[in-house]
This record gives sequence, structure tokens and C-alpha cells, in this order.
Amino acid sequence: MWGYLIGGAGVIAASGAASYQAIGPTAQWYGRTFIGLPRGAKEIALTYDDGPNDPHTFRLLEVLARHDVRATFFLIGRYARQRPDIVQEIVKSGHAVGNHTFTHPALVFQTARQIKVELESCTRALDDAVGAHSNLFRPPFGARRPAVLRIARDLGLLRVMWNVTGYDWNAKSSESIERNVARQVRGGDVLLLHDGGHLQFGADRAFTVKATDNIIARYKSQGREFVTIQAMMKSAQST
Ligand SMILES: [Zn+2]
Repeated sequence: MWGYLIGGAGVIAASGAASYQAIGPTAQWYGRTFIGLPRGAKEIALTYDDGPNDPHTFRLLEVLARHDVRATFFLIGRYARQRPDIVQEIVKSGHAVGNHTFTHPALVFQTARQIKVELESCTRALDDAVGAHSNLFRPPFGARRPAVLRIARDLGLLRVMWNVTGYDWNAKSSESIERNVARQVRGGDVLLLHDGGHLQFGADRAFTVKATDNIIARYKSQGREFVTIQAMMKSAQST
């Protein structure tokens, strides 16, 4: 079932590509990772990293509710500990939450023990906030190495990357985020956006919230359907 989800096997032969393989969102050398559906599929998955955040996660939830769209949130454990109420609000609104580590380190530079603690502490923080939740995991900065993938797999976590980058972390306007997305969408996509910031709680994500509103309107009018990562995986299995 994973065969056609994980594309890019051909790049394994390329030499000198190690750095790309370690951080490129669609690279597959270091292990299998979900990156979306085959090109042209009608589903699109919105994913938001680095929350929970105040007030922008709440504003985003309002936008998503207005469009009746469900998304997937990769949360930082220490923020979830700080504001479990926001995590509860996300889940109550019908969205999925996943693991984005406890403190958002670059896992490539961590020991196996540190990686395990990062992943387990985040899972526990989410458990304490909302109980049972998804087994989805996204590594900070998209960085991977074999140890990270092995440990995540041993903990039963499913790695989720993306194929469309909004570059919203340093965007100067919501329009620039929308343009970045429009350049890359081809159907069946996983979009990377941010409702929080890993450097500090409270990051301003107003541009992302506004861009989300317009992105949903635009692609819905083209017949696309917005789904969670789990829904996307299910539809991949039934294809
Ligand atoms: Zn992140």
C-alpha cells in the first residue's frame, strides 16, 4: 500500500545528495515517509506546525470552521504542556494532532537517547491534554537520519512530511504565502504551514491565517477537497 505514496526511490542512486536526502521534504533515502497522494488527486491536506499558539491557533480554528475543513496540527510538546486548553480546542473542532517533539531540536544533532525522550515527552504531553490521538509525527525542520526514523518507528510513530512549502515563517504578506502554495500544488498535496513558532510561544501568524482562508476558498472552487492526513492515508489505501 505504501508503494505509490512514497515516490522518489530513483534518487537513491544519485551521489553527493546526502544533505538533500537528510532535509529534503520528499527525499526517501533514509526511510519511508508519507508525503501525499499521487499527482492529480482531488484531496489536499493542510498541516500546521509549531503550535499550539495564542491567539493565532484560535483564529485559524475559526477560519477552518467557517469553511468546514479539517486539518492536521503537529504540536510542540512543551507548548502543549503550557496550554493544554488550546490542544483540547483543536481536537474538539475535529482536527488531528500529531507529534512535533517536545522542544523542537534539530534531531540530526541529537543522541538516540535524546531523540527518544523528545518523542516520548511530546506524546505524553498530548496524551495528558487530550488522551488518545494520532500516531503521526513530523520531525522539526524536516531533518532526518536513520536513527530518527528507527526510533520513531519503534515508538509506533508514522512520519509525515510534505510536498508543498508555504514559506510562511518569514512571509511578508499573506499573498506571498498564497503564491508559494499556488506554484507547487498539483493535487494530492500535503501543505506545510505554521500556526506557531518554535523559537517562542506567541509568534505572529496572522498572514498564515489569512492565507489559509484564501487557499481554502481558491481550491474548493476548483473542486479540491481538504482532508486530514489520516483521511488522506485511508483514501490511499482504498485506491
Ligand atoms: Zn517545526
